[in-house]
Amino acid sequence: MTAGVERTNLLGMPKAKLEAFFETLGEKRFRAQQVLQWIHQRGVDDFDQMTNMSKVLREKLKDVAEVRGPEVVYDETSKDGTRKWVMRMDNGNSVETVLIPDGERGTLCVSSQIGCSLDCTFCSTGKRGFNRNLTAAEIIGQVWVARRAFMPFEPNADRPITNVVMMGMGEPLLNFDNVVDAMNLMMEDLAYGISKRRVTLSTSGVVPALDRLGEVTDVSLAISLHAPNDELRNQLVPLNKKYPISELLAATRRYLSRLPDKRKATIEYTVIEGVNDQPEHARELVTLLKGLPCKINLIPFNPFPESDFRRPSMNATRRFQAVLNEAGFVTTVRTTRGDDIDAACGQLVGRVEDRTRRSQRYIAVQQVNP
Ligand code: SAH
Ligand code: SF4
Repeated sequence: MTAGVERTNLLGMPKAKLEAFFETLGEKRFRAQQVLQWIHQRGVDDFDQMTNMSKVLREKLKDVAEVRGPEVVYDETSKDGTRKWVMRMDNGNSVETVLIPDGERGTLCVSSQIGCSLDCTFCSTGKRGFNRNLTAAEIIGQVWVARRAFMPFEPNADRPITNVVMMGMGEPLLNFDNVVDAMNLMMEDLAYGISKRRVTLSTSGVVPALDRLGEVTDVSLAISLHAPNDELRNQLVPLNKKYPISELLAATRRYLSRLPDKRKATIEYTVIEGVNDQPEHARELVTLLKGLPCKINLIPFNPFPESDFRRPSMNATRRFQAVLNEAGFVTTVRTTRGDDIDAACGQLVGRVEDRTRRSQRYIAVQQVNP
């Protein structure tokens, strides 16, 4: 490599970009297909191992390109099988990625930003502020690391990652292009081949970006609603003052109507004791969501130190659920997974402010538990 010249990281490039990259090198476009398979299906990051390319081409690639994934600084599996990785990204920040196995399904929860600027009052990521967007390589790198952890595959084993949800740290629609590139790689047959129904983007409601999303992709959608009226939602999700509920639900309808199949949106509702957990809130929600093709996912609030909010009792959550079920909405309660390793929703804070302390703790854990 020539000193001072930065190499292009091929990890985050979807097929079209990789093809363009090979063209600029004066190479055939189909090289992109080979490289995609090496990187994403076989987990290879060393050009020398890409043996269906000539030695000359491999040397050329080593000069100008690289395949660089995030560095894993912590990797632990919870008692219930939930596995959490802490991955260090460029410039020393880290994010957390969680794999939740459930029967034949394995759902990977992926982060899109380091921190988040939207400051929802019940979310620990929001409380830590915003640091920066992740690159496409850093987003797909989380899937790459998780998939590599299960290589080589047993021929008849269940696939470890069947679903991806963009529900980790950050607001994916505020990192639009990188998230779209990464999701395209998740769905790419030459990469992870996950069906568009099983890739879900979760948003707190950036309405104009949601409309743009519908123009470029058809992944599944989760809407973080959390309240049945604007007055309450303004308090929980400050972004609501800019894009109120009526606009958000209208954009959700537009997005669903563009999809080629009949798919429902998931409405996420974090249930917080004494705040939004009363039967009248549930009844108001029924009226609000009438006619929207959706299913509802209730997430009992996960407490964290900086928050005064409390988790509702299971009885209160079940009462809330019953009102929605009786009105005909398919409603599930998200069970908390990975509690013992801080992998539950809203507990993903990465290392945004207290950089050194947290990393030292993880390194310490690794040393105790190699
Ligand atoms: N920014 C996006 C995606 C990341 S948040 C969004 O808001 O949709 C993913 C989900 O975790 C959201 O539904 C969010 O409301 C939920 N969540 C955040 N903090 C939580 C907490 N403390 N307890 C339970 N769920 C939480
Ligand atoms: Fe950001 Fe989502 Fe947390 Fe709100 S809930 S602060 S949008 S990560």
